[in-house]
Amino acid sequence: MSRVGVLALQGDVREHMRLLEQLGVDALAVKKPGALDQIDALVIPGGESTTIGKMSVRFGLLDPLRSAIRDGLPTYGTCAGMIFLAGAVTDGDQPLIGALDVVVRRNAFGRQNESFEAPLEISGFETPFHAVFIRAPWIEKVGGEVEVLSSIDDHPVFVRQGHLMATSFHPELTGDGRIHQMLIDSI
Ligand code: GLN
Repeated sequence: MSRVGVLALQGDVREHMRLLEQLGVDALAVKKPGALDQIDALVIPGGESTTIGKMSVRFGLLDPLRSAIRDGLPTYGTCAGMIFLAGAVTDGDQPLIGALDVVVRRNAFGRQNESFEAPLEISGFETPFHAVFIRAPWIEKVGGEVEVLSSIDDHPVFVRQGHLMATSFHPELTGDGRIHQMLIDSI
């Protein structure tokens, strides 16, 4: 059986683990570098990207994450996880994995729109995806290898780059497993 890790430093780890288990894979909370050798794919949850970044440095996980992902570990980042996977953020300085060739704007939808839900058209999906956005980022700039699967007002909110995927929104909160299933299918 495939085993999918969920980076368990901060954020909504449980919800991802529950959804992965519902999809029939084994879910493992990743807190130490050694766990990276035991998984076939990785989810980086939402939460607060600055905290996830700082804790990954403190727990000695940043470099092991970078090398596992460079070596091809299929990885999916949601919201703060998308930010942490990115090459750069538009503002500030925070530890990033730097694997996904995008520039991300944090909290991009602004105060009026801090949290909202929207039916999203996603390339390759037959029906819209009910997406929950919470202080969500959007992608400001994509590199040449990055495929945009969904956007809001021309701002990408779902991208794929080889074995990497990232969404601005939180599928683990609504229980629609289609995006997690894409990660599992890529193992
Ligand atoms: N605003 C958070 C950040 O910048 C992300 C919010 C989330 O993950 N729901 O890291």
